[in-house]
Amino acid sequence: MEVMEKTRTRVYRFGNKTADGSSKMKNLLGGKGANLAEMSVIGIPVPPGFTITTEVCTEYNELGKETTVNLIKEEIESAVENIEGTMGSVFGDQDNPLLLSVRSGARVSMPGMMDTVLNLGLNDKVVQGLASKTGNERFAWDSYRRFIQMYGGVVLGMKPESKDDIDPFEEIMEHLKRKREIELDTQFTVQDLKDLVYDFKDAVKKRTGKNFPTDPWEQLWGAIMAVFNSWNGDRAVYYRKMNGYPAEWGTAVNVQAMVYGNMGENSGTGVCFTRDAATGENVFNGEYLINAQGEDVVAGVRTPQQITKLGSQRWAELAKIEENDRAANYPSLEELMPTMYKELYKYQDILEKHYRDMQDMEFTIQDGKLWILQTRNGKRTGAAMVKIAMDLLKDGQIEEREALLRIDPNKLDELLHPVFDPKAIKRANIIAQGLPASPGAATGQIVFFAENTKKYKNTILTRIETSPEDLEGMNLAKGILTARGGMTSHAAVVARGMGKCCISGAGALKIDYKNRTLTVDGKEYHEGDWISLNGSTGNIIEGKVATCQPELSGEFAEVMKLADKYATMQVRTNADTPKDAQVARNFGAQGIGLARTEHMFFEVDRIKAMREMILADTVKGRKNALEELLPMQRADFEGIFEAMQDLPVTVRLLDPPLHEFVPHQLATQKELAEDMHISLAAVKGKVAELHEFNPMLGHRGCRLGNTYPEITEMQTRAIIEAALNLKEKGITAKPEIMVPLVGTYEEFVAQEKVIRETAQKVFEEYDDTIEFLVGTMIEIPRAALMANKIAEKAEFFSFGTNDLTQMTFGYSRDDAGKFLPIYLEKGILKVDPFEVLDQEGVGQLVKMATERGRSAKPQLKVGICGEHGGEPSSVEFCHTIGMNYVSCSPFRVPIARVAAAQAAISGK
Ligand code: PEP
Ligand code: MG
Repeated sequence: MEVMEKTRTRVYRFGNKTADGSSKMKNLLGGKGANLAEMSVIGIPVPPGFTITTEVCTEYNELGKETTVNLIKEEIESAVENIEGTMGSVFGDQDNPLLLSVRSGARVSMPGMMDTVLNLGLNDKVVQGLASKTGNERFAWDSYRRFIQMYGGVVLGMKPESKDDIDPFEEIMEHLKRKREIELDTQFTVQDLKDLVYDFKDAVKKRTGKNFPTDPWEQLWGAIMAVFNSWNGDRAVYYRKMNGYPAEWGTAVNVQAMVYGNMGENSGTGVCFTRDAATGENVFNGEYLINAQGEDVVAGVRTPQQITKLGSQRWAELAKIEENDRAANYPSLEELMPTMYKELYKYQDILEKHYRDMQDMEFTIQDGKLWILQTRNGKRTGAAMVKIAMDLLKDGQIEEREALLRIDPNKLDELLHPVFDPKAIKRANIIAQGLPASPGAATGQIVFFAENTKKYKNTILTRIETSPEDLEGMNLAKGILTARGGMTSHAAVVARGMGKCCISGAGALKIDYKNRTLTVDGKEYHEGDWISLNGSTGNIIEGKVATCQPELSGEFAEVMKLADKYATMQVRTNADTPKDAQVARNFGAQGIGLARTEHMFFEVDRIKAMREMILADTVKGRKNALEELLPMQRADFEGIFEAMQDLPVTVRLLDPPLHEFVPHQLATQKELAEDMHISLAAVKGKVAELHEFNPMLGHRGCRLGNTYPEITEMQTRAIIEAALNLKEKGITAKPEIMVPLVGTYEEFVAQEKVIRETAQKVFEEYDDTIEFLVGTMIEIPRAALMANKIAEKAEFFSFGTNDLTQMTFGYSRDDAGKFLPIYLEKGILKVDPFEVLDQEGVGQLVKMATERGRSAKPQLKVGICGEHGGEPSSVEFCHTIGMNYVSCSPFRVPIARVAAAQAAISGK
């Protein structure tokens, strides 16, 4: 078996300005491991260590623990020896101990998703050595208790037993604090820490039935296996699914020499960004804590201080802290440790220039020596993504194509979403202020637990702080509010990644989980009460606040201009009203790819005429009712054509089954009977007659037009008359009349005949003509198979991939909701084929039909108008097979434009 091969390198070393790997090896070494190697090579001071490859994670999943250990044992022992050499200390040694950190690292960053163990290698003897080596007994015992706590949680499963439960180790600490009448961890004495270590180990023994492992090598193997296991833990699996990352990727394991930010006042640790992750502004920023370890910053337990003086002053202004107070009590790193700051500034500059992108770095200062623990391309909001890409382009760091490839099309969505209505916000009652952790506006009902986010339609997840367990709830909530934590807390980082509004560190909030209340300034709010968050200012507002669409930045327009420069495929929109058409046009739509005419019939004043048409028993009765509908349809088309003047507009003839238009409730049936002066029984009879067992495959699409040609006549007349009326006003309309749900050549030809004859009649009446096309949707597999025949007559094809997916998979669009979630959960399907085009299966039909269509008519215009037309991977596919355009909902037009440009750049 190939994976068993022993000679392959499974462990890559780094440190001391050399490395076995490089940043190009992300798939094998994970993002973190690849970057550590790269940093080491370019002279950044990283603690030495090694990376166990992602392939080993896969081997572990296939072969189990024992075989995996055998495969990597020798390499690991020699790599540890190598670290010992660089650090001048020995793993497990009692006098001069080397301690290690063990972290996960997948090929993409998954913040907080997997586990980390720090201070590994400590036991009752080694702790003494650490104390005498550092001359700091308190530090040694604090590290030891932290190690047992982390190792216990991650490797030995010492976790809270239920959601409302407190962490078993925290419980012991709280108990001791109460007994000792102290509040902070820093107030523990050395003896307290020793007691804690004893009690922690006791708790481990009681709960797991085993002694806490004292052998450093046993500890190391345990931690490595726990990281591999965490790849298949609930949090990681959920995160992977949410982002579509396959299980086969696996995680790497990074083992590194420990460096300490908690060795006293000359030590510290922090997180920093080379640019502002929320706005994209080109300012170095970040947070740090003196005398602390990494997890203290992200856990949000202590509120961190700012790295730069400017950042610190901005923070103080928001927190309403006087300058004197700020400088004395919350100084920036720049003010407190100027030399360290300068060095850090130098490295952030080197790293950003090296990676040519915004970096998110972690660092530790150990007794006056700066170490960079990791760097990665920073997560950012959609707005920051756009600004950073354009700024780097202007700086000359990247070129146009690269700038476009830096845009995640899906993230543009955030920029297009609502902000608070400026008028409504003027009247808002601001009840508290927090940190503006992730911009945007959100309004919703308060819930305190992630699982309750399903309880209401719009929720604000309100927590003291969040943890990775809350991820699903954070995803469902409209906004996230935390009482604790800084700009780099879990809540802040995750929310920014999701593009979700978040306010963190709102210290004025008193949250009581038990009673489910939030108290601010003596006023109590309960679960279900409405609040609103302004993630851009940190304002927490009482009640509901109306929202409106945001204004788009100059950089957004620049991205769009670039997209148009490189895209070769056009982007149209699916719009049924002049208003939607206008919105889409403002977003750069180059035409309408689908106007669903049935939507026009559902409006109150039209449904009556529509129902009369349906209930009519004779052609004459139907024609009379259609006469009434004609002026309304014509006016609709005039509005749409005008909004889209000079651009093509594809109008689809009536598609849904008629039963959708008739009333199904007794009261409305009675009303209709009275209105139409017919009996209730007649109405009921017609409703029963229209009933279908499978309407999706029933009397719909061109089957309606072919059985009731007068409907097609009326719609054609409305389209052509509208275009001619506009022509008189000097407005050019370019209608493309589309026949839905065609399966056979004859179905299309029969409808085409009605359309062309009607148009001819109207031309004669007006004594004028316009240009128009007649084409078809390809949404039935048979039509795809017969595409060459149909293309003899059809002037264009538009793939209706909603129906084509339905009929190719045999999944009813109406009923798939019952089993698709389970299929996704079980991995039977990787993604929902109604969202992401199934290129493997349905895609074959699309490709084949395009080729066959063009074999009959080389100039055949081909587009897509199913929901997939706005989904980036599907857009890329459409480009690859040579479509002329994709068509999507107005708000997805910018996304599709960028996706189309990226597809062209990637040259697939
Ligand atoms: C389709 O089937 O893809 C389509 C666009 O039409 P509808 O969704 O209206 O059936
Ligand atoms: Mg359809």
